[in-house]
Amino acid sequence: MDKRKVAVIGCGFVGATCAFELIESGLFLEMVLIDVDKKRSEGEAMDLSHGSAYSHAMKIYAGDYDDIYDAGMIIITAGANQKEGETRLDLVRKNVKIMKSIVEEIKKRNCEGILLIVSNPVDILTYVALKVSGFKPHRVIGSGTVLDTARLRYVIGERLMVDSRNVHAYIVGEHGDSEVPIFSTASISGIHMNHFAQLRGYFDYEGMIQEVYEDVKNSAYEIIKRKGATYYGIAVAVKRICEAIIKDEHSILPVSSLMEGAFGFFDLCLSVPTVLGRDGVEMLVDIYLNNDEFDKLEYSSKTLRTVIEELEEEGLI
Ligand code: NAD
Repeated sequence: MDKRKVAVIGCGFVGATCAFELIESGLFLEMVLIDVDKKRSEGEAMDLSHGSAYSHAMKIYAGDYDDIYDAGMIIITAGANQKEGETRLDLVRKNVKIMKSIVEEIKKRNCEGILLIVSNPVDILTYVALKVSGFKPHRVIGSGTVLDTARLRYVIGERLMVDSRNVHAYIVGEHGDSEVPIFSTASISGIHMNHFAQLRGYFDYEGMIQEVYEDVKNSAYEIIKRKGATYYGIAVAVKRICEAIIKDEHSILPVSSLMEGAFGFFDLCLSVPTVLGRDGVEMLVDIYLNNDEFDKLEYSSKTLRTVIEELEEEGLI
């Protein structure tokens, strides 16, 4: 297996933007692009490789599944995206079929790399990819709430007039409507967020965090209403996940992965803070949650588990 080789499957808005961000990152030496629409992957590969003279030496090409057997990272962004008024869970049946067909191809090539699922609903599709591939759970990761957490940190940073890189706060649970912000331990470089907010003149803290949460939860809907799709934020999130894995950073990111007892949840994928290294998931971090946060996370897990059970009943997984 070649750790410096990446495959991107699905070359629409998200796949192409992730590819661009990964090229700029310099993390990989080889990139293969795959799409059911071969002209599209060829066009993207040509366009992306034309920046090489001013970027990084890298082999970029459109290929097919035989090209990915030795890829260290396989990123799946294929599938329908949300239309205005659609939730991520509305996409489920269409995208489960697409995900199964892709992962069956990957499985046939005896790949040893790490699968990173980005297509929505990401938690359900990560679970489908895990079941269909038969890979060990540490190798099957969903981008989960890494993007939502970035949005949370950005919105808090804007409100409190502080660099979002100094904001320590997570969104956990489903990447979707039942996602849960963890404010009880949120801090600005070690100072509890409540205290920092007061220093910045916010005295209705509960009102402020509710507004922050609504802003974050509705971000994708607001972007889709204006431009039809979201792709830059997720591309940076995907780059960050790849970086943590390829550089064996042991960074903590809220990716989606199989729950095997963490927080009392089993047999579903959702996001909790996770230590990531060269083999993918190293450890789930059992962060403190207050009762309200735990109840919301439990509701999020039940929402996802219900969808999995429906898909099982329909014979889709
Ligand atoms: P898009 O329609 O622009 O692109 C989808 C691409 O997938 C198309 O090029 C299509 O030809 C390809 N495709 C479809 N079936 C395929 C198959 N069987 N094999 C290979 N390629 C196939 O959509 P988009 O805006 O790029 O969104 C892609 C996915 O990413 C959607 O599910 C969207 O909801 C999701 N998304 C996830 C996040 C996140 O945070 N996880 C953020 C944004 C978008």
